[in-house]
Amino acid sequence: MISIRPASFISILFVLCTLLLTSKVLAAAPVHIIKDNHTQLEQFQMEYFVDKSETMPFETVQKQDFILSPNSLSLGTASKVTWSKITLNNPTAVPTKVYLHHPHAYHNKAVGLYEVVNNKLINERVLDLDDQTTWQWMYRGSAVFEISLEPNQIKTLFVNSTSFSHQWFALNLYGEDLSKRALLGQFTYIALVVGMLLALIIYNFLMFFSSRLKEHFYYACYLVSGGFWIALSYGLLADIFNVFGYNTMKWHLSLVAMPIFLILFMTNIFETKKRYPVEHWSLLIVLALLSINFIYGLFDIVTALKYSSTLAAVMMAVSLSVTFSMLFRKHPVAVFFLIAHGLFVLFSGLAVLFYKGMAEFNYINSHGVGIGILLEALLLSLIIAHRIRSLENLKTTQADLQIQASTDPLTHLFNRRHFSNAANKLLTNENPIKTPTSITIFDIDHFKNINDTYGHTCGDKAIKCVAELIRMQSRQEDILARYGGEEFIILMPNTSLNDAHILTERIRTMLEKTNIEVDQNKFINITISAGIAEVDPASPNLQQTIDCADKALYESKNNGRNQSQLYK
Ligand code: GH3
Ligand code: MG
Ligand code: MG
Repeated sequence: MISIRPASFISILFVLCTLLLTSKVLAAAPVHIIKDNHTQLEQFQMEYFVDKSETMPFETVQKQDFILSPNSLSLGTASKVTWSKITLNNPTAVPTKVYLHHPHAYHNKAVGLYEVVNNKLINERVLDLDDQTTWQWMYRGSAVFEISLEPNQIKTLFVNSTSFSHQWFALNLYGEDLSKRALLGQFTYIALVVGMLLALIIYNFLMFFSSRLKEHFYYACYLVSGGFWIALSYGLLADIFNVFGYNTMKWHLSLVAMPIFLILFMTNIFETKKRYPVEHWSLLIVLALLSINFIYGLFDIVTALKYSSTLAAVMMAVSLSVTFSMLFRKHPVAVFFLIAHGLFVLFSGLAVLFYKGMAEFNYINSHGVGIGILLEALLLSLIIAHRIRSLENLKTTQADLQIQASTDPLTHLFNRRHFSNAANKLLTNENPIKTPTSITIFDIDHFKNINDTYGHTCGDKAIKCVAELIRMQSRQEDILARYGGEEFIILMPNTSLNDAHILTERIRTMLEKTNIEVDQNKFINITISAGIAEVDPASPNLQQTIDCADKALYESKNNGRNQSQLYK
């Protein structure tokens, strides 16, 4: 049990009350001194008022109670029309100028500036983001208003910020030089981030075109929509293409497209269709809902965006549970995906709280979605790298298996099955065959005796030596294989019966003269018998030709071995 002593309870209560009172009601907003060109107010106190009716004229607003607040503020979706109040004082004897910046004006509906001196409205400027005639106060995505202060003048600024969806803004005040500098440096970081994403996008599209692996395509599309959204919501598009006001609303559809590509990426990378059907279907259902919302958004973006946060929550719940399920089934990339997507969910969650006015204006909250997208994008590229590596390993393993399946482990020549496949392919490709093709079958003479005399291991060595000798004598285009225990076969394309005879005799006589070392300092001489047959050019048939060569071999054996016979 936690127990709180009355003394500490009272002091906590006291601190809380003090904080509440000082921040909200009692304290008055300071008057800001503007002396010269070097003014720079990026963090200061001001006051705000939310016009819930959204229709109050300035004269009425002026009389309302304002609440003390910092200059950067997030008030959420319920505060569409908000007023800020800032009081400036020029205590010098010379006139001076100051510039008010609203750096997030590009996604607003309107920004208005009302200047009041001695309770009298002396100047009124309203920037309507959808009305080009008022764009003279719009500069690189920011609303910028020049304010003149006479000597010893105190002026109160009322800034109206009307948003489409949620209300967040950061009002800044600068002297002339600093104002220009603030505008110039504004988009450097975001341009770097977007440039980095662009490089990843190009890389993945190129990878898709070269490998045809769909995950590269979906990942690139995911990056396109994410990168586009970052460029849009951080004002880069406003800066370059003057995408303001309602247009920023419309293009927020890119945020609806992002989870669509993420799901497609997931189904590919986890191979859900093949391996995890239940998870696959749940992802497909979310995919369908997101796609419907996206299409709807093409016609009515306001409604689509309203549903998109609910859908995004559903999508996150489904995708996270699918990832957990993958994790339990020990999918190798599930943990990477969980970290990547978990970080996105975490930072987006912070951003959503910020947009809804439930979390304060700070760097992480206000950049939550951007940070989330970047972290996820980088970690997903690790998954792609992992996938490329495992696919390559799989390819190598498959190639190894194929080699194992087609070769004889003792002699490393092709085996009988591979010979039959390759020879049949060669003969059926050319029917009738244009050039003569012949086959020789070799069989070692009295091999049983070798085994019996020197043992099986020596017998194996002898087989290897004979195989090597035949391999050395055969040509590149010949198909050579170990056909049986101590039998070898060669299919010789472009070779007449007579040429095949010459080649066979060359092998036979060479072997006859070769001393084969079957054991340490134990040499033996081996002879072979051979049968040669030519493929019938009119109806080439492998088995028929082998049978003929076999008959000729039988004749060689019967005639006393160590010779070759032609099948006539
Ligand atoms: P022939 O001159 O009539 O061919 O007499 P052969 O003794 O060689 O008779 P055959 O060709 O019928 O016998 C082949 C022998 O080769 C039988 C078998 O024990 C032996 N053999 C088959 N494969 C292997 C092998 O991989 N290693 C070893 N050491 N011996 C094998
Ligand atoms: Mg034999
Ligand atoms: Mg034999």
